[in-house]
Amino acid sequence: MNHSTRMPLHYQILIALIFGMTVGLIANFGFSRRNTNVELPDLVMSVEPDPEVFHVRFDGGSGVQRQTLGSFSALEKRYPRLAELYHREFSQGKVSSAATLIVKERQLTIAEDLDRIILTHSGTLDSEPFTDTIQARDPADLLKQFPEWGPAYGTYGGTPSRTLAGWAKAVGDLFLRMLKMISIPLIVTSLVTGVAGLGSSRQLGKMFAKTLGYYIVTSILAITTGICMVNLVRPGVGAILPGEGAGAVEGGDNTLGGIFGNLLNDMIPPNPIAALTDANFLSIITFSLLIGIFTIRAGEKAGRTFREFFEAAFEVMMGMTQFVISLAPIGVGAFMIYATASQGLQIFSTLAWYMLTVFLALVVHACVVLPMLVAFVGRRSPWKFAQAMSPALMTAFSTASSNGTLPLTLTSVETRAGVPNRVSSFVLPLGATINMDGTALYEAVAVLFIAQATPGFAMSLQAQILVAVTALLASVGAAGIPHAGLVMMAIVLQAVGLPLEAQGVILAVDRVLDMCRTTVNVWSDACGCAVITRLSDDQAGPTA
Ligand code: ASP
Repeated sequence: MNHSTRMPLHYQILIALIFGMTVGLIANFGFSRRNTNVELPDLVMSVEPDPEVFHVRFDGGSGVQRQTLGSFSALEKRYPRLAELYHREFSQGKVSSAATLIVKERQLTIAEDLDRIILTHSGTLDSEPFTDTIQARDPADLLKQFPEWGPAYGTYGGTPSRTLAGWAKAVGDLFLRMLKMISIPLIVTSLVTGVAGLGSSRQLGKMFAKTLGYYIVTSILAITTGICMVNLVRPGVGAILPGEGAGAVEGGDNTLGGIFGNLLNDMIPPNPIAALTDANFLSIITFSLLIGIFTIRAGEKAGRTFREFFEAAFEVMMGMTQFVISLAPIGVGAFMIYATASQGLQIFSTLAWYMLTVFLALVVHACVVLPMLVAFVGRRSPWKFAQAMSPALMTAFSTASSNGTLPLTLTSVETRAGVPNRVSSFVLPLGATINMDGTALYEAVAVLFIAQATPGFAMSLQAQILVAVTALLASVGAAGIPHAGLVMMAIVLQAVGLPLEAQGVILAVDRVLDMCRTTVNVWSDACGCAVITRLSDDQAGPTA
């Protein structure tokens, strides 16, 4: 391939990022709101007792549909008029098979933006006008709650920007699938090659200690920055949290013990092949480390054959990675369209101070704290290092997944920043799983914001320290996938006695903040490579 005539990858990705954002925003501003007014044919609704289960039959011109309601009270709740009629006829001994209502002069109004769909159905029933309004978050929610309105919404509803966001997500997901496809074999071959290349397992022990030290120190620095910022800006004071949509995030009932028990269990895979097929990162890392260690320990002939095999496999995987990475502009552009076209915009104004606090704290950590470590400990130019890492950083921003970005992080660090494979193959996969500065910072800021916005809830210094410690643990436990940090927040909220429901409030803006914190997570892992390389150079002599 002739790379010299092509625009450098980071510019291609940058252009795609800006292009995607522009297209998504135009779609969001211009085509996100739609009001539809349609006249519908008469609807015949009848209730058929079974005898205990009630079936409601709808015939509204677009095919007959049935809905099953478990009990009379369910019928009464959803269709009070029908229930009333049924009850009247039944008590007069008239109902043999069905009670029927005919709704005439029907009008349907669909008002929707990207946050909600409101269907208003009006007409006359027994010559009396009536109006029935239903609300859902999105088409899937509408179908779940009110399946009888699915066909009408399918025919008359939908916004162009929602459709565009759906297509863009489908394209972006294809790219993410490719990254996932290569990430496991890449981690395995890279780790085995890296560890086997160390030459002795004592060196590995030292590197492990330094890496862990780096993860802990930077996470604590990130959390401290977040806590200072939230106390300075005080975004929650006087904030009126939107009550709608509040609720605990699914899967959010984690406990500290449970999470760490799982982490420990994950470290020891009873079946390494199953761990590979389940893409369980921690299990794969442990097993690959062990293979690397015992390759060093194996006798001369076996050790060399094994190492050469993995080195060859690593080279092949790197080639495949380069190919997938060349598609990054398409994936990044598509994800940016999805992110900008699918977010409702008015929620941003409600939570603007909160978002600004998270953002500012992330900027301080990423642009001041980490670069200082790169400059003074790693002895490199932070600016040049950031430029080298830019393809990975932009991919992290658009995909909101550290795990997904890993192939780009590995190649950028090695081929563009010149970090030796023995360091990056160790620091990066482990870092993608457990070192998440951005997530740790975000957990602390979000929980303190919720505390400030909860009337009568005072946060003592001890409670803030508890938030800091649990935020650190939650970030270690969070997987490198979109929204993992939000799910993990449950343990921090529980630790200080705040209600889990508060998470529902910040869910609406989580994608944008997730994109920012994931970028910081990946940047911190990369900076770790620069720092660890220098720290191990001092002991192991100059690297290649
Ligand atoms: N999405 C983040 C990551 O992949 C984790 C999080 O939700 O904070 O690094």
